Amino acid sequence: PKTKLPKVGTTIFTVMSQLAMEHQAVNLGQGFPDFAVPDLLVEALDRAMRAGHNQYAPMTGIPALRQAIASKTERVYGWRPNADTEVTVTSGATEAIFDAIHAVVHAGEEVVVLDPCYDCYEPAIELAEAKAVHVALDPQTFAPDWQKVRAAITPRTRMLMINSPHNPSGAMLSADDMQAVASILRDNPDVFLLSDEVYEHIVFDGARHESVLRYPELRARAFIVSSFGKTYHCTGWKVGYCIAPPALSAEFRKVHQYNTFCTFAPAQHAFAEMIEQDPAHYLELGAFYQAKRDRFAAQLRETRLKPLPVPGGYFQLVDYSAVSDLDDLAFCRWLTTEHGVAAIPLSPFYESPPAGQRLARLCFAKNDATLDAAMARLRKL
Ligand code: PMP
Ligand code: GLN
Repeated sequence: PKTKLPKVGTTIFTVMSQLAMEHQAVNLGQGFPDFAVPDLLVEALDRAMRAGHNQYAPMTGIPALRQAIASKTERVYGWRPNADTEVTVTSGATEAIFDAIHAVVHAGEEVVVLDPCYDCYEPAIELAEAKAVHVALDPQTFAPDWQKVRAAITPRTRMLMINSPHNPSGAMLSADDMQAVASILRDNPDVFLLSDEVYEHIVFDGARHESVLRYPELRARAFIVSSFGKTYHCTGWKVGYCIAPPALSAEFRKVHQYNTFCTFAPAQHAFAEMIEQDPAHYLELGAFYQAKRDRFAAQLRETRLKPLPVPGGYFQLVDYSAVSDLDDLAFCRWLTTEHGVAAIPLSPFYESPPAGQRLARLCFAKNDATLDAAMARLRKL
């Protein structure tokens, strides 16, 4: 039979985590924290299950969680979405991205993505029988060239996808970038925006996250996606959400209701409590990760791996050209099997990776002991 995703294999995150396990490597590959979920959240989850919140949740998400998301959005970004008509709880950001694409993108249309980009974007676009049009970010700074983005838009373009803080680079979009996006959308009234903001609270050095939620003109045309997995150290719970204007949310919900119908109910109760009772958690997340970033980068500077600047997110890119001339897939395999540290190559995030790029991604969402164990090995390179 003619298969639907002929180019797709097993994701690089699964491949590298498997290899890390086989070789007892310190796993700095796949992005997940190895420290505990906040006690309040675990206790709230336990309470929710014991209180009997174990059946289907409302399709759009439980009201208390949608209200909590709306309140948090107002506190952080100065605008309150309507919890009933503009907020939908999903089974992770991955589901939200899939639903948003399938809600508005038709067969034969195009979606502009900025390379390198997260690996779930293109398969979701292909399953909609649409085409991903790849525009390269700057190979050094990972900044977008908006002229190139503008030039990539055709009458078939239905969506532009952006991601800040950016996976894998940590680069962040500036207020000027948001103005450039606004200008492009103004000139292309049939293009929707999908903004992947899963690392929204992990931003450093006093920078402001330029959420699409801050920009009325942008959010009127946008699906804004986030994930509690990143904010609350629980990537395995797979709870996220999408904020979009009522008409777009209505279309989004049509896909969501026949994709998963609803999201794990007990966790929704737990997040509703957590968001309301401990706003300091997300407000202090940047400082928490900044300390890890700084400690890790200082240690890396004592090795032959060269750390690149990390404005946001929890990934450190390193230039390994002083260590090896292997391509990035081979290097990350070698680092895992021969040196016991798993990393993620960048080439799977590209349609065509820049020639000669020698970069690997290390996740620093780890306890100091984990990072120290990795450093003991990386120092020997
Ligand atoms: N977008 C980006 C940029 C991500 O890094 C991730 C998770 N690593 C996701 C989306 C998916 O988030 P979730 O695990 O909530 O599905
Ligand atoms: N988002 C995580 C990362 O970039 C991986 C999630 C996954 O394994 N699908 O590492």
